[in-house]
Amino acid sequence: MSSEFVRPDGRLPDQLRPIKMAVGVLDRADGSAYVEQGNTKVIVAVYGPRELHPRHKASPEAAVVRCRYHMAPFSTRERKSPNPSRREVELSKVIKDALSQTIFLERFPRTSIDVFIEVLEADGGTRCASINACSLALANAGIPIRDLISAVAVGKYNGHIILDLNDEEDEAAEADMPVAIMPSFNKVVLLQLNGVLTEEEFKQAFDLAVKGCMEINRIQRETLRSRYLSIKGEENEDV
Ligand code: ADP
Repeated sequence: MSSEFVRPDGRLPDQLRPIKMAVGVLDRADGSAYVEQGNTKVIVAVYGPRELHPRHKASPEAAVVRCRYHMAPFSTRERKSPNPSRREVELSKVIKDALSQTIFLERFPRTSIDVFIEVLEADGGTRCASINACSLALANAGIPIRDLISAVAVGKYNGHIILDLNDEEDEAAEADMPVAIMPSFNKVVLLQLNGVLTEEEFKQAFDLAVKGCMEINRIQRETLRSRYLSIKGEENEDV
């Protein structure tokens, strides 16, 4: 990979955007998280496991995950209609499918786990930022998961394989490929590809995505660790 190639925002091809993460940001939800990747900002609220209504939609074998990915009307340059678009319905489904891989659903029959994603600002990579926030919010809700899911998009832009595309790059990219993994299991839980990559480029892009996911995973763990250390600190002060 050519290290001289500099991207529109000054990043190197293998560089992530600046990341901020926080958990427990909403008091009323069972679990919540906020994630910023560059100018992309998402907030997630998780409820459950809780009784599912209408009851006929419940499964006697496992919990049902319900997921709503929504872009706020103010998240884009032009006002976005608050009504769910086809894209939002599709993203809700692929994110739900990814989350269902990590949750121990079979432990909570007849219940639902409800995940609400609100994109506050959209600047590329919103499905990946959403997945990163969802797994933090699930952990924050105390819902047993096999692993934290970590996600990032890679793509081909001006002939270069790049990590974590912003909107400008996404629009002009020859290809973009969001990837989500469960690192401890070497398992891919989401992979979508728009555009065209050669086999060699695909391998290079996939390896770069995994590298990016590992860095994001480290920040997710750090975020959870510092949250629970601070709660523990407060408890000790109360004694
Ligand atoms: P992702 O956000 O996961 O990359 P897409 O590739 O579909 O998903 O979208 C890329 C980017 O295009 C989004 O992050 C957002 O910045 C922009 N975008 C998507 N939908 C809209 C919309 N309805 N209006 C304006 N911008 C949008």
